[in-house]
Amino acid sequence: MDNVTCPFCGLACDDLQIEVIEGSVCATDNACGLSLDHYRRLAPVAGASPHIKGKAATIDEAVKSAAGILAKASLPLFDGFAADLSGARRIVQLADRCGAVIEHMNSTAKMRNLLSVQDAGWITTTLAEVKNRADLVVLLGTDAVSRFPRFFERLIWSQESMFGLDSGARQIVYVGAGLDDRAGHAPDGRPPEVIPCKVDEIGEGMGAMRSILAGQSLHAESVAGVPVGQWTSLLERLRSAKYAVIVWAAADFAFEHAELTVQTISALIKDLNLSNRVVGLPLGGSDGDFTSNGVLLWQTGFPFRCSFATGAPVYDPYMNSSQRLLTSGEADALLWVSAYNPARLPTKVSVPTIVLAPPGAVFESEPDVYIPVGTPGVDHAGHYTRTDKVVALPLRKLREIGLPSVADVVASIEAALDDGVA
Ligand code: SF4
Repeated sequence: MDNVTCPFCGLACDDLQIEVIEGSVCATDNACGLSLDHYRRLAPVAGASPHIKGKAATIDEAVKSAAGILAKASLPLFDGFAADLSGARRIVQLADRCGAVIEHMNSTAKMRNLLSVQDAGWITTTLAEVKNRADLVVLLGTDAVSRFPRFFERLIWSQESMFGLDSGARQIVYVGAGLDDRAGHAPDGRPPEVIPCKVDEIGEGMGAMRSILAGQSLHAESVAGVPVGQWTSLLERLRSAKYAVIVWAAADFAFEHAELTVQTISALIKDLNLSNRVVGLPLGGSDGDFTSNGVLLWQTGFPFRCSFATGAPVYDPYMNSSQRLLTSGEADALLWVSAYNPARLPTKVSVPTIVLAPPGAVFESEPDVYIPVGTPGVDHAGHYTRTDKVVALPLRKLREIGLPSVADVVASIEAALDDGVA
């Protein structure tokens, strides 16, 4: 099969060549190491079946047992939330019915962007714009390729670009510590510029550039361990570029109050746009997080950490965090969905737990109910929102090994609740 879309990171590359041999998916071209690992992990598992308290059960028994747990719960928590578009729609519908709180396995990282964009907005771009227009790419605290392996191959050094742009002449700058900058070397071997800076101090550097841009004097020789002259020089590069792109990955900003760093980056981009064309590219979207968040946004107007407990959606990034709800004991049941990765499972919790994940899941502690599900883009067709959020790419079914989709299972749980079987 040609032009298969890969659902294993937010780039959603749509050019993979795939062969399916006895149910195993083999990528023969254009796959990266991350996608190969995922396809390998999804190899058929002999005897995969639903479990109730660790014992094999039929799908009907498991669905009824799951419905029973949800029917008894006062405040169920729906977490993981890694599904395709149809699966996410069904989960939101079930949450509405059960009065559940909806979270996502990646929401700690996503909140760093969400809190910032809710507060002050931002100017961001699309992958197509980066590929066709960027002449300067500044990566803040991320090498991109550790989480999005084909970032440089597909977007930066790609031979195909519009408007006569010479992609090999692009300027690359890394700001951060311990980043793998090998992918940032141009095809002719020209190395990128690297500005060493602790990741949790990048916000200070961005703030310094805002001050310099505003014409203020900095009474310091260095900011965030970087000479002021180097920040001034980076600012000049941003101002002299025709289309500069500032890239970050919220997952790589793993420190307290990183939303303030995102806010300062966004403010710098806005300041620069008074006279220049500079845009942001926040990388994310893995585990379907932009897909699920998009569904929640258009159905409720709110992102993750949305509660249906009062009968109407209520968003609260603090009160509705899964960590707080579980440690406080307020949540009394957990539905965890991880359709892309059988290794992303809930940690041991003390509430009744239902897990929907592909076969091969190895639990630290057996959930009350486990239902094996198919992976979108492997076991069934679906849609997946890319990191730039402007397209939902179609995912194709590659094989048939008898696994239901998340949407099918969640619909069955809802039907069981309708029947009052619990
Ligand atoms: S870069 Fe991401 S979307 Fe592209 S092939 Fe690798 S894992 Fe899949």
